[in-house]
Amino acid sequence: MKISSKEGAGGKRMQEFLENFVLKTFGPASVGCIGLKDLDDGASFENYVITSDGHTIKPIFFRGGNIGKLAACGTINDISVMGAKPLLLTCSIIIQAGFESRELMDIMASIRDSCNEVGIHVVTGDTKVVEDPINIYITTTGIGKSWKGLKTNLEKVRETRNYPENFIKDSNLKTGDVIIVSGTIGDHGISILSERDEIAISGDLHSDVSPIWDVVKRGLKKGGITAMKDPTRGGLSSTLNEMSQKSGFGIEIEEERIPVDKTIVSAAKILGINILDVANEGKVVFGVMPEEAESVLKAIKKSKYGSNAAIIGKVINEKKVFLKTGVGARRLLEMPDGDPVPRVC
Ligand code: MG
Repeated sequence: MKISSKEGAGGKRMQEFLENFVLKTFGPASVGCIGLKDLDDGASFENYVITSDGHTIKPIFFRGGNIGKLAACGTINDISVMGAKPLLLTCSIIIQAGFESRELMDIMASIRDSCNEVGIHVVTGDTKVVEDPINIYITTTGIGKSWKGLKTNLEKVRETRNYPENFIKDSNLKTGDVIIVSGTIGDHGISILSERDEIAISGDLHSDVSPIWDVVKRGLKKGGITAMKDPTRGGLSSTLNEMSQKSGFGIEIEEERIPVDKTIVSAAKILGINILDVANEGKVVFGVMPEEAESVLKAIKKSKYGSNAAIIGKVINEKKVFLKTGVGARRLLEMPDGDPVPRVC
């Protein structure tokens, strides 16, 4: 078997790849309550979480950001959705010989600026220069720690269910939990693809790449969050299916409630791509205890990157993900085969 781009594109094929290759090789390794077997956004140890992410995107400068901003936010966001407060970042950059130094400075400045936004720094890293035609690849690793708001949130959740972990998993949904998404869906994938394909469309089309720590922080402080995940590769479809499968419960989403940007929707139609299947880089999907959903939503909406947050559905007993359309139809929302837009994160 030869590895194809589908193995790295989110969705079903990547899940199989992780199980058949990564988990088979490294085993169910864990030193804390969340380890490799959980295939979560990171792993925990003592009162910390750690996560690592490689970034490759074409074009490296795009509307709304660049590969540097993406690399910093990707890791900050994976730490955040585990409920941990970002503490530090490491950064490894592989650069193709001949790369423009001014562009490298801009990329590194974006990493610094995104870190500044959440009050952290790049504390160690590595640079390599190669002759291979890679342009630039960036890998970031991040560590986050437990904090007061997370503990308060967990105490509230533990009043109604067994929740032994000391961070937020993506797999602790229970029937009745409300699903909240922190803003418009599909912006990153659709905007990157329309830039690549140079489609003509009026309106401002840009990636949503941003650090979502403040959105998460406000939600946790309010309390009642049971599960979180950032809908990156494979989009909202992949994320909801993953959360559903791991939790052992289904999810029912109302299409009309999903926040979308009109320009992104028009571009997606031209491109023939389902916005639910493409990557987002500044969004969070929350599972919230039903009695706390409205107050968590209100808190999230006060954040800069959470103003378009909305309740989009709920957790149900059936073990699949369903999409209710405006005309009252109900259809299966399946795990996509992969992300229809490759090299976006
Ligand atoms: Mg993630």
